[in-house]
Amino acid sequence: MYIIHTAAEIAPIAKVGGLADVVAGLSKELVAQGHTVEIIIPKYDCLDYSSVKDLQIAYENLYSYYRGAWIRNTIWRGFVDGLTVFMIEPHDETHFFQRGSYYDCPDNMERFTYFSRAVLEFLLKSNRHPDVVHSHDWHTGLIPVLYHEMYKGLGLEIKKNIFTIHNLSHQGLTEGWIIDAIGLKSAHLLHFDRLQDETHLHLLNILKGAIVYADSCTTVSPSYAKEIQTVEGGCGLNRLLTFYSSKLVGILNGIDISYWNPETDPLIPHKYSPKNKDQFFKNKARCKDHLKKRLHLNEGNKPLIGIVTRLVHQKGLDLIVQALHRTVETGGQFILMGSSPDPIVTERFNLLQEAVLPTHEAHLELKHNEILAHQIFAGCDAFIIPSLFEPCGLTQQISLKYGTLPIARRTGGLADTVFDVETSPHQKMGNGFTFDHPTTEGVNWGVDRTLKTFMHKRILWQELMIKAANLDLSWHLPAGQYLQLYGHH
Ligand code: ADP
Repeated sequence: MYIIHTAAEIAPIAKVGGLADVVAGLSKELVAQGHTVEIIIPKYDCLDYSSVKDLQIAYENLYSYYRGAWIRNTIWRGFVDGLTVFMIEPHDETHFFQRGSYYDCPDNMERFTYFSRAVLEFLLKSNRHPDVVHSHDWHTGLIPVLYHEMYKGLGLEIKKNIFTIHNLSHQGLTEGWIIDAIGLKSAHLLHFDRLQDETHLHLLNILKGAIVYADSCTTVSPSYAKEIQTVEGGCGLNRLLTFYSSKLVGILNGIDISYWNPETDPLIPHKYSPKNKDQFFKNKARCKDHLKKRLHLNEGNKPLIGIVTRLVHQKGLDLIVQALHRTVETGGQFILMGSSPDPIVTERFNLLQEAVLPTHEAHLELKHNEILAHQIFAGCDAFIIPSLFEPCGLTQQISLKYGTLPIARRTGGLADTVFDVETSPHQKMGNGFTFDHPTTEGVNWGVDRTLKTFMHKRILWQELMIKAANLDLSWHLPAGQYLQLYGHH
């Protein structure tokens, strides 16, 4: 099949969170299964160009409509881990993608609505007629809308428009003029059956538009697909999602095991494989020593719990802090790596960092660091994810692959991937520790049982590590589910 993905992120060159990993990982697997895949993203100035090979101009003068004029764009093509990636560079006055940042811009709506039209304009002008255009999150949510309202009539053929919700809490609410600016008709679209927001009736909701206009809509885990149809989890769109439930499906994300794999990972100091248990235990322990030395933690074999996360409300900030304190109080060590777009949150964690640093029992690294992330996944014994909600979550899957047992709040994709070794009805699948309530007690219960198992049940712990590392967490199965949806026979 000929499949085009379009999104605001792709790993590793433009990565903020899991969206980037999904776009890259799914695309690689589709290519491995023999399909033709192209990816279209904005040409941000802050892209990691060192990981792009053979970057060349693919299309020089692509004009795309914006606010009564036709803006010139250059379309670049490069290869990222073997994937073909097109990048759209607008030559507009406000330099939409020359901001040194992917998202932190007051005119995000304008930037991504502009991008969405330019994507379809590129497909039309370059005579591409893909089987599937798969767009992701609100940034590219106008693509199915633009196709049906405009580009189909102009002769562009797309057999299926697929849309994936990675996080329902970001919906792209906007005033009419913003979508008028790219030639859509807001008066027509501000209608309950189309893009009208279900709470703020004077606003358009881009995510709603994607759900209404796409042929199929997916989200990133079966549990999240159910949760978003409830009042509590629906972020105001539960009625709509229930109405369209027949075209909504939850497909669990995989992880890119060519990138996240302790057998081959060049970013960890000692590789290990569950195929060789002695080497696994020895080298994982050496990874732990290396990590502890690097971050100046006290010596000894205390249980080491890690977390790598965006420091945002969704991730349970109070619960993360509680997990750190509880771990240290009850004889463990803790490593947190995270960054936040919010200076107040950063300040809070800076203060915590200053407070815990002298103890050498916990370490906070308040930045984004890809190499250290790999070393944390490999070097920790357990990994905590106390999210308030979690559409899928990749870090519990990555940590499982590295034999680092997850402690997870039982919500969304976490509930579909982490099964408690003591309490889960799926005992055979037990691979970590879960807790239900997003409270101090919930966190303590998860942390306490983890530390006890680590300290007093070594054989069980070792069996669990090997079992976790042997799980098939690759994109192989999920890609098959996507292909079915794409209409592949
Ligand atoms: P989300 O998409 O909500 O951020 P996910 O668990 O789906 O959460 O994906 C997070 C991804 O971002 C993982 O690959 C994780 O390793 C990575 N990540 C998050 N914070 C950092 C950081 N500070 N440094 C390096 N990688 C990070």
